[in-house]
Amino acid sequence: MRRFDELRKECLEANQMLPKVGLVDLTFGNVSILDRERGVIAIKPSGVDYNKLTLEDIVLIDGDGKKIDGKLRPSSDTPTHVRLFRGFVGMRAVVHTHSRHAVSFAQAGMAIPCLGTTHADYFYGEVPVTRPMKEAEIKGMYEWETGNVIVERFKELGLDPVDVPAVLVHGHGPFVWGPSGAKAVENAFALEIVAEMALKALQINPQARPIGRNLLNKHFLRKHGADAYYGQPQLG
Ligand SMILES: [Zn+2]
Repeated sequence: MRRFDELRKECLEANQMLPKVGLVDLTFGNVSILDRERGVIAIKPSGVDYNKLTLEDIVLIDGDGKKIDGKLRPSSDTPTHVRLFRGFVGMRAVVHTHSRHAVSFAQAGMAIPCLGTTHADYFYGEVPVTRPMKEAEIKGMYEWETGNVIVERFKELGLDPVDVPAVLVHGHGPFVWGPSGAKAVENAFALEIVAEMALKALQINPQARPIGRNLLNKHFLRKHGADAYYGQPQLG
């Protein structure tokens, strides 16, 4: 096996999952995986059909976003991924999609309120939306600045990206992350589901309010953190 083939494989498989779970229209979407110890990121190449994607197509870049291996150009969103890996130290994988319901909230400029326990199982409170980007940011290093507004928003809100592993970029769409490629894609799928549910709940009752702190704590903390008890204990 070549160097970093495991990393490429995790990246390939996570990218291939996106259309399978219905998160991708056309080629809007990409996953990257970071090997933090070795400072190498595997990322989807730009504009390649998910069905045709192979291990060789996955592009390897360094921590500055410079290509170190691969024939193809990396995703045009690469600088956003690199910025997020730098800003959010705990994460291993970043997913970007234009999944329709999450994008609907991003386009409305609205955070996704935590209206129920499905949301609370994955996200510890509302999923925030960034501010609109400024002219200079859009004309300048746009993709890098996209990462900046995300990190800025989490700082403003005092949010831990481990507790809320997703964000909506205003007028654009979701970026989601996790400790592995598979988990990050699962989080992106959960985000799309809760966005659809929130949209429908708000249609039925525009006065729908977020669940209370007790129910939020119960659901999030039983699956995450030191006192988690959901699922099966680790064997072996
Ligand atoms: Zn995009």
